Amino acid sequence: MREEKLVCVMCPVGCRLTVRISYNHGSGNGEAVVEGYRCNRGIAYAQQEILDPQRILPTSVLVEDGEMELVSVKTNKPVPRRMIFEIMEIVKKTKVKAPVRTGDVIIPNILNTGADVIATRSVNKKV
Ligand code: SF4
Repeated sequence: MREEKLVCVMCPVGCRLTVRISYNHGSGNGEAVVEGYRCNRGIAYAQQEILDPQRILPTSVLVEDGEMELVSVKTNKPVPRRMIFEIMEIVKKTKVKAPVRTGDVIIPNILNTGADVIATRSVNKKV
């Protein structure tokens, strides 16, 4: 059993949460018991954060024939932090052709996470 302290970021109240985590090595399952929340969103946030944290991933992708060599991108939804290395391997190998427009989907449903990698700025074609 271990204990972690978190601040819930789901609303401006910012409840200070205490999470007691137990891990069953036999089944491979974990359990997180949460205290200090004012509403159920705090429980869901803490359990997700402790058992399978997710993050929006900002990065960049190579551009061919563009005014710039790279375009900034991000996932349009949080992706599991445990998959970020694998996702970056795909992103590093990806090249898009200019022009690129903000919001263009660069890699749909990356690694079946349900998240698309989208452009966060535009890059015009080189003249
Ligand atoms: S537990 Fe509920 S009230 Fe507290 S910060 Fe999270 S969302 Fe807001």
